Amino acid sequence: MPELPEMEHYRAQLAPRIAGAQITGTEVTREKSINLSVQEFQDGLHGRTIWHVERRGKHLVMHLDNGKRLVLHLMLGGSIFFGSEEEKPDRTAQVTIRLTTGNLYFIGLRLGYLHLLSVKEVEAKFRELGPDPFDKRLSLQAFIARFSGKRGVLKPALVDQHVLSGIGNCYSDEIAFAASIRPDARIRELEPSTWERLYQAMHSVLREATARGGYMEEPLTAGDEVTGGYNDHCQIYDRGGEPCVRCGTVIEQFEVSSRKAFVCPACQKSQ
Ligand SMILES: [Zn+2]
Repeated sequence: MPELPEMEHYRAQLAPRIAGAQITGTEVTREKSINLSVQEFQDGLHGRTIWHVERRGKHLVMHLDNGKRLVLHLMLGGSIFFGSEEEKPDRTAQVTIRLTTGNLYFIGLRLGYLHLLSVKEVEAKFRELGPDPFDKRLSLQAFIARFSGKRGVLKPALVDQHVLSGIGNCYSDEIAFAASIRPDARIRELEPSTWERLYQAMHSVLREATARGGYMEEPLTAGDEVTGGYNDHCQIYDRGGEPCVRCGTVIEQFEVSSRKAFVCPACQKSQ
């Protein structure tokens, strides 16, 4: 499932292509992907201009010129393609938005969704969302405080969107590895120096993954060679049975609160 780096990469790539463009048509082949009737959705979008594109956690928010917002969550299996009908990959798009600059295809949008919402609805939706890892107000102290009410272990708290927004299964493991801490370390037992390592690792891992285009394999546009560049740079996630890049010890796959997790038993400690 796309996380902060994938969605931030999408945002940065899409903004110059769709901001300022006018919507000339909409096609919906899967009504469950949207929140209105197809007619209402089409009427609500036709003729509107996209002002800018913002990311909130794992969501993309497209601001329209009438104050309404299109909120996208790709969930599992979803991807975006921007281009012409000829360039589009041979996969069914659940929603297509035709713009004066090109077409925006939402592919594999089965668990994911594209909702047309008012500002109030958007605010209500994101009210419970934790701060972005790159929020300037998220100091080390504020970061530690986000976990203060948490008992259990690290991984489920890192992926909890109420604690922080944008981190999921892959990057929680990458961050824990970069900080040399086990994903199943007990939160209450973490030392100040461990919190500092985690805080720094969160920034460095997410920044590098974003710069490399995230791990999504599907290209965003024709000739796109940037998207998915982080795939070959994942240090630990989905590398069970392979040698650790740091020490050569075999990486173990296990479960943390019924989530798949990966750990180097030699490099990563409980504190
Ligand atoms: Zn190791």
